[in-house]
Amino acid sequence: MIEKSKHVKKHNFSAGPCILPEEVLRKASQAVVDLDGLGLSLIEISHRSKPFVAVMEKARSLALELLGLEGKGYQALFLQGGASTQFLMVAYNLLQNKAAYLNTGTWSTKAIKEAKLFGDMIEVASSKDANFNYIPREYEIPSDVDYFHCTSNNTIFGTSMKDFPNSPVPMICDMSSDIFSRQLDFSKFDIIYAGAQKNMGPAGTTLVVLKEDVLGKVDRAIPSMLDYNVHLGKDSMFNTPSVFAVYVSMLTLAWLKDLGGIVTIEKVNEEKASLIYDEIDRNPLFKGFAAVEDRSFMNATFNLTDRGLTGKFDALWQEADINGLNGHRSVGGYRASMYNALPVSSVQVLVDTMQELERTA
Ligand SMILES: *Cc1c(COP(=O)(O)O)cnc(C)c1O
Repeated sequence: MIEKSKHVKKHNFSAGPCILPEEVLRKASQAVVDLDGLGLSLIEISHRSKPFVAVMEKARSLALELLGLEGKGYQALFLQGGASTQFLMVAYNLLQNKAAYLNTGTWSTKAIKEAKLFGDMIEVASSKDANFNYIPREYEIPSDVDYFHCTSNNTIFGTSMKDFPNSPVPMICDMSSDIFSRQLDFSKFDIIYAGAQKNMGPAGTTLVVLKEDVLGKVDRAIPSMLDYNVHLGKDSMFNTPSVFAVYVSMLTLAWLKDLGGIVTIEKVNEEKASLIYDEIDRNPLFKGFAAVEDRSFMNATFNLTDRGLTGKFDALWQEADINGLNGHRSVGGYRASMYNALPVSSVQVLVDTMQELERTA
Protein backbone atom coordinates (compact mmCIF):
# COMPACT_ATOMS: atom_id res chain seq x y z
CA MET A 1 0.00 0.00 0.00
CA ILE A 2 1.10 3.56 -0.62
CA GLU A 3 1.66 5.37 2.65
CA LYS A 4 -0.74 8.21 3.28
CA SER A 5 1.20 11.40 2.90
CA LYS A 6 2.06 13.28 6.08
CA HIS A 7 2.06 16.46 4.06
CA VAL A 8 -0.68 18.67 5.48
CA LYS A 9 -1.37 19.87 1.99
CA LYS A 10 -2.72 17.68 -0.79
CA HIS A 11 -0.60 17.00 -3.86
CA ASN A 12 -2.24 19.62 -6.00
CA PHE A 13 -2.13 18.94 -9.74
CA SER A 14 -4.94 21.39 -10.49
CA ALA A 15 -4.74 22.99 -13.95
CA GLY A 16 -5.95 26.36 -12.68
CA PRO A 17 -6.41 28.07 -10.36
CA CYS A 18 -3.34 26.22 -9.27
CA ILE A 19 -0.95 25.45 -6.47
CA LEU A 20 1.00 28.34 -4.94
CA PRO A 21 4.04 28.20 -2.65
CA GLU A 22 3.08 27.57 0.98
CA GLU A 23 5.13 30.51 2.26
CA VAL A 24 3.29 32.79 -0.17
CA LEU A 25 -0.07 31.59 1.13
CA ARG A 26 1.06 32.20 4.73
CA LYS A 27 2.32 35.72 4.03
CA ALA A 28 -0.81 36.51 2.02
CA SER A 29 -3.16 35.36 4.77
CA GLN A 30 -1.21 37.44 7.29
CA ALA A 31 -1.50 40.51 5.04
CA VAL A 32 -5.26 40.06 4.80
CA VAL A 33 -5.39 40.56 8.58
CA ASP A 34 -2.57 43.10 8.94
CA LEU A 35 -0.33 44.35 6.17
CA ASP A 36 3.27 44.71 7.40
CA GLY A 37 2.23 45.82 10.90
CA LEU A 38 0.21 48.73 9.56
CA GLY A 39 -2.82 47.88 11.69
CA LEU A 40 -4.87 47.61 8.50
CA SER A 41 -5.69 44.84 6.09
CA LEU A 42 -4.23 44.73 2.60
CA ILE A 43 -7.78 44.64 1.27
CA GLU A 44 -9.10 47.60 3.26
CA ILE A 45 -6.53 50.26 2.38
CA SER A 46 -6.60 52.62 -0.57
CA HIS A 47 -4.93 51.32 -3.68
CA ARG A 48 -3.44 54.82 -3.93
CA SER A 49 -1.87 54.58 -0.47
CA LYS A 50 1.91 54.41 -0.25
CA PRO A 51 2.05 50.77 0.88
CA PHE A 52 -0.09 49.52 -2.00
CA VAL A 53 1.58 51.67 -4.67
CA ALA A 54 4.83 50.07 -3.50
CA VAL A 55 3.30 46.60 -3.94
CA MET A 56 2.18 47.37 -7.47
CA GLU A 57 5.55 48.85 -8.41
CA LYS A 58 7.39 45.86 -6.97
CA ALA A 59 5.14 43.41 -8.84
CA ARG A 60 5.70 45.27 -12.11
CA SER A 61 9.45 45.49 -11.73
CA LEU A 62 9.87 41.89 -10.55
CA ALA A 63 7.97 40.67 -13.62
CA LEU A 64 10.31 42.55 -15.98
CA GLU A 65 13.40 41.56 -14.02
CA LEU A 66 12.57 37.84 -14.00
CA LEU A 67 11.88 37.91 -17.75
CA GLY A 68 15.15 39.73 -18.39
CA LEU A 69 13.31 42.66 -19.95
CA GLU A 70 14.37 45.53 -17.71
CA GLY A 71 15.67 48.54 -19.57
CA LYS A 72 14.61 47.14 -22.94
CA GLY A 73 11.60 49.34 -23.66
CA TYR A 74 9.05 47.08 -21.99
CA GLN A 75 6.40 47.85 -19.37
CA ALA A 76 4.42 45.48 -17.18
CA LEU A 77 0.74 45.95 -16.35
CA PHE A 78 -1.54 44.05 -13.98
CA LEU A 79 -5.00 44.24 -15.56
CA GLN A 80 -8.37 42.62 -14.95
CA GLY A 81 -10.69 40.52 -17.07
CA GLY A 82 -8.41 37.50 -17.34
CA ALA A 83 -6.39 36.34 -20.32
CA SER A 84 -9.74 36.16 -22.10
CA THR A 85 -9.97 39.96 -22.15
CA GLN A 86 -6.49 40.06 -23.69
CA PHE A 87 -7.84 38.06 -26.64
CA LEU A 88 -9.85 41.12 -27.60
CA MET A 89 -7.60 43.85 -26.19
CA VAL A 90 -4.71 42.74 -28.39
CA ALA A 91 -6.88 43.01 -31.46
CA TYR A 92 -8.54 46.25 -30.35
CA ASN A 93 -5.14 47.94 -29.90
CA LEU A 94 -3.15 46.39 -32.75
CA LEU A 95 -5.34 45.01 -35.51
CA GLN A 96 -5.75 47.63 -38.23
CA ASN A 97 -6.22 45.37 -41.30
CA LYS A 98 -5.15 41.76 -40.80
CA ALA A 99 -3.47 39.58 -38.27
CA ALA A 100 -1.97 36.08 -38.37
CA TYR A 101 -2.75 33.43 -35.75
CA LEU A 102 -1.33 29.99 -35.03
CA ASN A 103 -4.13 27.73 -33.82
CA THR A 104 -2.86 25.20 -31.28
CA GLY A 105 -5.89 24.65 -29.09
CA THR A 106 -8.98 25.88 -27.29
CA TRP A 107 -7.40 29.13 -26.07
CA SER A 108 -5.93 30.02 -29.49
CA THR A 109 -9.32 29.31 -31.02
CA LYS A 110 -10.94 31.74 -28.60
CA ALA A 111 -8.33 34.41 -29.35
CA ILE A 112 -9.01 33.96 -33.08
CA LYS A 113 -12.74 34.41 -32.56
CA GLU A 114 -12.18 37.81 -30.94
CA ALA A 115 -9.66 38.96 -33.57
CA LYS A 116 -12.24 38.35 -36.32
CA LEU A 117 -14.36 41.11 -34.80
CA PHE A 118 -11.68 43.66 -35.68
CA GLY A 119 -10.27 42.70 -39.08
CA ASP A 120 -9.10 39.88 -41.31
CA MET A 121 -7.63 36.88 -39.59
CA ILE A 122 -5.18 34.55 -41.32
CA GLU A 123 -4.80 31.19 -39.62
CA VAL A 124 -1.22 30.28 -40.57
CA ALA A 125 -1.61 26.69 -39.34
CA SER A 126 -3.79 24.58 -37.08
CA SER A 127 -3.49 21.21 -35.36
CA LYS A 128 -7.24 20.83 -35.03
CA ASP A 129 -7.09 17.87 -37.44
CA ALA A 130 -5.55 15.78 -34.63
CA ASN A 131 -7.47 17.25 -31.67
CA PHE A 132 -4.57 19.62 -31.08
CA ASN A 133 -2.16 16.90 -29.93
CA TYR A 134 0.81 18.51 -31.70
CA ILE A 135 2.29 21.91 -32.63
CA PRO A 136 2.37 22.68 -36.37
CA ARG A 137 5.87 23.50 -37.59
CA GLU A 138 5.59 24.25 -41.30
CA TYR A 139 4.01 27.64 -41.70
CA GLU A 140 4.86 31.10 -42.85
CA ILE A 141 3.98 34.39 -41.29
CA PRO A 142 3.01 36.93 -43.96
CA SER A 143 4.99 40.14 -43.72
CA ASP A 144 1.97 42.34 -44.45
CA VAL A 145 -0.04 41.52 -41.32
CA ASP A 146 -0.22 43.74 -38.24
CA TYR A 147 1.00 41.03 -35.88
CA PHE A 148 1.40 37.30 -35.29
CA HIS A 149 -0.28 35.63 -32.28
CA CYS A 150 0.60 32.29 -30.70
CA THR A 151 0.01 30.34 -27.47
CA SER A 152 3.20 29.07 -25.83
CA ASN A 153 1.61 26.33 -23.75
CA ASN A 154 -1.68 24.60 -24.46
CA THR A 155 -3.01 23.94 -20.98
CA ILE A 156 -5.83 21.64 -22.07
CA PHE A 157 -3.99 19.46 -24.59
CA GLY A 158 -0.59 19.37 -22.88
CA THR A 159 1.53 20.66 -25.76
CA SER A 160 4.00 23.52 -25.80
CA MET A 161 5.97 25.44 -28.38
CA LYS A 162 9.66 24.60 -28.01
CA ASP A 163 10.76 27.07 -30.68
CA PHE A 164 9.29 30.37 -31.73
CA PRO A 165 9.44 31.71 -35.27
CA ASN A 166 11.49 34.70 -36.28
CA SER A 167 8.44 36.78 -36.97
CA PRO A 168 8.66 39.57 -39.56
CA VAL A 169 5.87 41.37 -37.67
CA PRO A 170 5.27 42.01 -33.94
CA MET A 171 4.84 38.73 -32.09
CA ILE A 172 2.18 38.41 -29.39
CA CYS A 173 2.06 35.41 -27.09
CA ASP A 174 -0.46 34.04 -24.62
CA MET A 175 1.85 32.59 -21.95
CA SER A 176 -0.85 32.06 -19.33
CA SER A 177 0.18 28.55 -18.39
CA ASP A 178 3.96 28.58 -18.70
CA ILE A 179 5.18 32.08 -17.97
CA PHE A 180 8.15 32.08 -15.54
CA SER A 181 8.57 28.31 -15.99
CA ARG A 182 11.35 28.13 -18.58
CA GLN A 183 14.03 30.29 -20.11
CA LEU A 184 13.12 31.93 -23.39
CA ASP A 185 14.34 34.97 -25.22
CA PHE A 186 11.40 37.05 -24.08
CA SER A 187 12.64 40.03 -26.08
CA LYS A 188 11.42 38.23 -29.23
CA PHE A 189 7.88 39.12 -28.17
CA ASP A 190 6.17 42.50 -28.40
CA ILE A 191 3.31 41.58 -26.08
CA ILE A 192 3.22 38.72 -23.59
CA TYR A 193 0.10 38.16 -21.50
CA ALA A 194 -0.77 35.68 -18.80
CA GLY A 195 -3.72 35.19 -16.49
CA ALA A 196 -2.19 35.01 -13.00
CA GLN A 197 -3.97 31.87 -11.84
CA LYS A 198 -1.88 29.31 -13.72
CA ASN A 199 1.66 29.98 -12.58
CA MET A 200 1.77 33.25 -10.67
CA GLY A 201 -1.04 33.95 -8.27
CA PRO A 202 -4.77 33.83 -7.62
CA ALA A 203 -7.38 34.54 -10.29
CA GLY A 204 -8.29 38.19 -10.72
CA THR A 205 -5.31 39.76 -12.40
CA THR A 206 -3.55 39.33 -15.72
CA LEU A 207 0.04 40.24 -16.39
CA VAL A 208 0.59 42.11 -19.65
CA VAL A 209 4.18 42.82 -20.67
CA LEU A 210 4.43 45.04 -23.68
CA LYS A 211 6.92 46.91 -25.75
CA GLU A 212 5.72 50.47 -25.87
CA ASP A 213 6.56 51.05 -29.53
CA VAL A 214 4.04 48.42 -30.65
CA LEU A 215 1.13 50.73 -29.78
CA GLY A 216 -0.47 53.68 -31.53
CA LYS A 217 -0.85 52.09 -34.97
CA VAL A 218 -4.64 51.72 -35.24
CA ASP A 219 -7.14 54.40 -36.26
CA ARG A 220 -10.08 53.33 -34.18
CA ALA A 221 -11.16 54.91 -30.92
CA ILE A 222 -10.44 52.56 -28.03
CA PRO A 223 -12.56 52.56 -24.85
CA SER A 224 -10.38 53.62 -21.91
CA MET A 225 -10.51 50.34 -19.99
CA LEU A 226 -9.39 48.45 -23.12
CA ASP A 227 -6.66 50.88 -24.12
CA TYR A 228 -3.13 49.77 -23.18
CA ASN A 229 -1.92 53.38 -23.39
CA VAL A 230 -4.44 54.50 -20.77
CA HIS A 231 -3.21 51.82 -18.35
CA LEU A 232 0.44 52.61 -19.09
CA GLY A 233 -0.17 56.33 -18.52
CA LYS A 234 -1.63 55.55 -15.09
CA ASP A 235 1.08 53.07 -14.02
CA SER A 236 -1.43 50.20 -14.01
CA MET A 237 -3.73 52.15 -11.65
CA PHE A 238 -6.29 53.59 -14.06
CA ASN A 239 -9.01 52.02 -11.93
CA THR A 240 -8.90 50.05 -8.70
CA PRO A 241 -6.64 47.09 -9.39
CA SER A 242 -7.32 43.65 -8.02
CA VAL A 243 -5.25 44.39 -4.93
CA PHE A 244 -5.19 40.92 -3.40
CA ALA A 245 -4.32 39.16 -6.67
CA VAL A 246 -1.55 41.66 -7.43
CA TYR A 247 -0.16 41.31 -3.91
CA VAL A 248 -0.06 37.50 -4.04
CA SER A 249 1.48 37.60 -7.53
CA MET A 250 4.16 39.94 -6.19
CA LEU A 251 4.89 37.49 -3.36
CA THR A 252 5.16 34.58 -5.82
CA LEU A 253 7.52 36.53 -8.06
CA ALA A 254 9.66 37.47 -5.03
CA TRP A 255 9.67 33.78 -4.01
CA LEU A 256 10.86 32.83 -7.48
CA LYS A 257 13.58 35.48 -7.45
CA ASP A 258 14.86 34.26 -4.06
CA LEU A 259 14.95 30.73 -5.41
CA GLY A 260 17.27 31.84 -8.20
CA GLY A 261 14.77 32.89 -10.88
CA ILE A 262 13.69 31.10 -14.04
CA VAL A 263 17.06 29.34 -14.53
CA THR A 264 16.58 27.49 -11.26
CA ILE A 265 12.89 26.68 -11.54
CA GLU A 266 13.38 25.45 -15.10
CA LYS A 267 15.65 22.67 -13.81
CA VAL A 268 13.04 21.62 -11.25
CA ASN A 269 10.34 21.69 -13.92
CA GLU A 270 12.49 19.52 -16.20
CA GLU A 271 13.00 17.05 -13.39
CA LYS A 272 9.24 16.82 -12.71
CA ALA A 273 8.46 16.44 -16.41
CA SER A 274 10.96 13.62 -16.93
CA LEU A 275 9.64 11.80 -13.86
CA ILE A 276 6.06 11.73 -15.14
CA TYR A 277 6.79 11.23 -18.85
CA ASP A 278 9.27 8.41 -18.18
CA GLU A 279 6.56 6.63 -16.22
CA ILE A 280 3.89 7.24 -18.86
CA ASP A 281 6.24 5.76 -21.49
CA ARG A 282 7.38 2.85 -19.33
CA ASN A 283 4.10 1.77 -17.75
CA PRO A 284 2.03 -0.34 -20.18
CA LEU A 285 -1.19 0.81 -18.50
CA PHE A 286 -0.72 4.43 -19.63
CA LYS A 287 -0.40 6.26 -22.90
CA GLY A 288 0.56 9.91 -23.42
CA PHE A 289 -1.79 12.16 -25.39
CA ALA A 290 0.54 14.82 -26.85
CA ALA A 291 3.16 14.24 -29.56
CA VAL A 292 6.40 13.41 -27.74
CA GLU A 293 8.42 16.31 -29.20
CA ASP A 294 5.72 18.82 -28.22
CA ARG A 295 5.06 17.64 -24.68
CA SER A 296 4.37 20.39 -22.18
CA PHE A 297 6.47 20.52 -19.01
CA MET A 298 3.55 22.17 -17.23
CA ASN A 299 0.57 19.97 -18.17
CA ALA A 300 1.11 16.26 -18.83
CA THR A 301 -1.91 14.66 -20.52
CA PHE A 302 -2.35 10.88 -20.53
CA ASN A 303 -4.92 8.12 -20.70
CA LEU A 304 -5.31 4.61 -19.36
CA THR A 305 -4.79 1.97 -22.05
CA ASP A 306 -7.63 -0.02 -20.46
CA ARG A 307 -10.59 2.16 -19.55
CA GLY A 308 -11.84 -0.61 -17.32
CA LEU A 309 -9.18 0.41 -14.79
CA THR A 310 -10.57 3.93 -14.37
CA GLY A 311 -12.37 3.28 -11.09
CA LYS A 312 -9.38 1.53 -9.60
CA PHE A 313 -6.88 4.21 -10.62
CA ASP A 314 -9.16 7.02 -9.46
CA ALA A 315 -9.52 5.40 -6.04
CA LEU A 316 -5.74 4.94 -5.78
CA TRP A 317 -4.77 8.52 -6.51
CA GLN A 318 -7.50 9.92 -4.33
CA GLU A 319 -6.26 7.73 -1.46
CA ALA A 320 -2.78 9.12 -2.06
CA ASP A 321 -4.09 12.67 -1.39
CA ILE A 322 -3.74 13.71 -5.01
CA ASN A 323 -6.02 16.49 -6.22
CA GLY A 324 -7.00 17.78 -9.64
CA LEU A 325 -5.88 14.94 -11.91
CA ASN A 326 -8.95 14.65 -14.13
CA GLY A 327 -8.35 15.62 -17.75
CA HIS A 328 -10.26 18.39 -19.50
CA ARG A 329 -13.47 17.15 -21.08
CA SER A 330 -12.12 17.74 -24.60
CA VAL A 331 -9.27 15.26 -24.05
CA GLY A 332 -10.59 12.95 -21.32
CA GLY A 333 -8.24 10.81 -19.25
CA TYR A 334 -5.84 12.58 -16.95
CA ARG A 335 -3.87 15.78 -16.77
CA ALA A 336 -1.10 16.36 -14.27
CA SER A 337 -0.44 20.08 -14.04
CA MET A 338 3.00 20.71 -12.59
CA TYR A 339 3.29 24.44 -12.15
CA ASN A 340 6.31 26.10 -10.49
CA ALA A 341 5.13 25.64 -6.91
CA LEU A 342 4.47 21.89 -7.20
CA PRO A 343 7.26 19.98 -5.42
CA VAL A 344 9.08 17.10 -7.13
CA SER A 345 7.90 14.89 -4.25
CA SER A 346 4.27 15.32 -5.36
CA VAL A 347 5.12 14.04 -8.83
CA GLN A 348 6.91 11.11 -7.19
CA VAL A 349 3.71 10.27 -5.28
CA LEU A 350 1.80 10.23 -8.56
CA VAL A 351 4.41 8.01 -10.21
CA ASP A 352 4.27 5.64 -7.22
CA THR A 353 0.49 5.50 -7.61
CA MET A 354 0.80 4.63 -11.30
CA GLN A 355 3.23 1.83 -10.37
CA GLU A 356 0.89 0.64 -7.63
CA LEU A 357 -1.83 0.30 -10.26
CA GLU A 358 0.50 -1.76 -12.43
CA ARG A 359 1.35 -4.07 -9.51
CA THR A 360 -2.25 -4.63 -8.45
CA ALA A 361 -4.24 -4.43 -11.70
C1 LIG B 1 -6.59 29.50 -18.64
C2 LIG B 1 -6.08 30.07 -19.89
C3 LIG B 1 -6.69 31.19 -20.49
C4 LIG B 1 -7.92 31.84 -19.93
O1 LIG B 1 -7.60 32.61 -18.84
P1 LIG B 1 -8.70 33.47 -18.05
O2 LIG B 1 -7.85 34.24 -17.10
O3 LIG B 1 -9.62 32.50 -17.39
O4 LIG B 1 -9.41 34.33 -19.02
C5 LIG B 1 -6.13 31.67 -21.66
N1 LIG B 1 -5.06 31.10 -22.21
C6 LIG B 1 -4.45 30.02 -21.67
C7 LIG B 1 -3.26 29.42 -22.34
C8 LIG B 1 -4.95 29.47 -20.49
O5 LIG B 1 -4.35 28.39 -19.95
